Amino acid sequence: MSVLDAFGLAGRVAVVTGGNRGLGRAFVTALTEAGASVAIVARDTAKTGEVLASQPDVRGFQADVRQRGEVDRVVQEIVGEMGGVDILVNNAGTCVHAPALDVTEHDWHEVIDTNVNGVWNCCQAFGKHMAERGGGTIVNVGSISGLIVNRPQWQPAYNASKAAVHQLTKSLAAEWAPLGIRVNALAPGYIKTEMAPVDRPEFRQHWIEDVPMKRYATPDEIAPSLIYLASDASAFMTGSVLVIDGGYTAF
Ligand code: NDP
Repeated sequence: MSVLDAFGLAGRVAVVTGGNRGLGRAFVTALTEAGASVAIVARDTAKTGEVLASQPDVRGFQADVRQRGEVDRVVQEIVGEMGGVDILVNNAGTCVHAPALDVTEHDWHEVIDTNVNGVWNCCQAFGKHMAERGGGTIVNVGSISGLIVNRPQWQPAYNASKAAVHQLTKSLAAEWAPLGIRVNALAPGYIKTEMAPVDRPEFRQHWIEDVPMKRYATPDEIAPSLIYLASDASAFMTGSVLVIDGGYTAF
């Protein structure tokens, strides 16, 4: 196999949670370009319509990743329509910006339910399916917020949730390696999406000036790393957290 062939995903079925916008949408496009058949899992299928209109080969499925029953159902639906799932990308996530003393009970649970329980629900549900068919690859979207405490928007629930995603990734990688399932995580720095208001003047110092490369990333710049972790190019990698942050956590 040539080096470039190792990145190819022809004939593979990939699932991207939250693939209708932001980083997830860039992942869907990249996976399609690499040759995979892609399923978007979104809680609001109306939002998926725009993606499906521009990428007719992509299919949309409805599930809120916080709801285990919905996740179990969507595994059956995707397998029934598209065949066995080779790649799971746990991208869906949310963030609440508030200092610790101001975080409400609702906001704490919203972040933990989505970012931790949602990732767990999908890992276990799709993991069972992958184990039955002899293997697969899972890529969880973590964050530099799981490694360091970023400023100035304090976000304790988000930071805790992404650290949990990194540790869950390593735990499952160790346990599932004998099953042929690789589990890795991406830990991106600042990316311009709806979640991250990187252009706002009050964040400029921390989100641009403090980044050694003096800028934030676009979703398209993160997507090639997803292809690396999802493909045979990373065949001997599991339990890794791949940092892509313009050098932010190097200091
Ligand atoms: P966006 O807010 O643009 O996208 C988040 C996506 O997750 C949306 O598609 C959203 O769907 C979906 N989602 C949220 N909750 C649920 C749920 N309960 N069930 C199903 N789907 C859900 O953010 P980003 O693209 O920036 O974030 C994508 C991932 O990247 C997240 O995990 C985030 O934590 C991570 N990340 C982002 C960084 C950044 O700087 N932007 C940096 C590091 C990591 P809906 O349209 O229904 O809301």
